[in-house]
Amino acid sequence: MASPVWQYNSHTQSAPLLTSVFRNSFCPCCACSQALAVSDRYDESDGRRYSKYIKVMCCALCGWWFVSKDTWDSACGLDHTLHILTATGAALRTFSPGPSDAQLTILEGEIRDHLLGKGTSAEWAALEDVTKGVFREFGYQARVTARSKDGGIDVIVDHAEFGDVYAQVKHTRNKVGVRVLRELIGTMAINGTTNSLLVTSSGFTHGLSKEKALAAQKGFFVELVDGNRLLASLNLTYRRDPPTISEVMDVADPNIQLIIEEVKL
Ligand SMILES: [Zn+2]
Repeated sequence: MASPVWQYNSHTQSAPLLTSVFRNSFCPCCACSQALAVSDRYDESDGRRYSKYIKVMCCALCGWWFVSKDTWDSACGLDHTLHILTATGAALRTFSPGPSDAQLTILEGEIRDHLLGKGTSAEWAALEDVTKGVFREFGYQARVTARSKDGGIDVIVDHAEFGDVYAQVKHTRNKVGVRVLRELIGTMAINGTTNSLLVTSSGFTHGLSKEKALAAQKGFFVELVDGNRLLASLNLTYRRDPPTISEVMDVADPNIQLIIEEVKL
């Protein structure tokens, strides 16, 4: 199982910095002048044995976001609670200009239509550009290929572990099926690459996951990104709305441990 590429490559790793953000709720990028606002939260508690608190905070000025997961578990003993706090956050890597708000609105509308199997595909070129933008936001170098001779490859990601990772971007209301996947694997085989992404504004046909598993057995790993995941990542990258927990958790894991302690009740 290859680790996912469609994910933040550059979490904040510094536990002291994250702890300070958790305690003080100030943006670390804006010189401590800007308080982070909670943009989404999830609380779960049975009042006795187990409680979980997840929250996403975001800087209104620079977009830096922070997610923390705080759990209290007393299943291990009657008079002790195990308290674990984990978190992560990420800065905007680039401020490269994306599409205009008007263009992004049209593109997002097309993706929503494609998820329902309808609509037009006028903004196909914009989709390739924003896909590159998403990869840059995740912390990779990425480039759009020349349109005339791409061999089906639209974006190439420079990945530290996997080398060149190809992304094929389908802006279509039709579900993407096995034929497209096989073409992509053929291109990978010819070029000697092992990892790629198949990104679509719509969804995938049922047969695809089986074919994908077969390819993985042969050493070709293809990650699938459907229209829903794409929309969530576009919102994170071009951030017109504060991020939600599900958008962040889809592409990042709050895995930096800040606190692990036993608390006597
Ligand atoms: Zn900030």
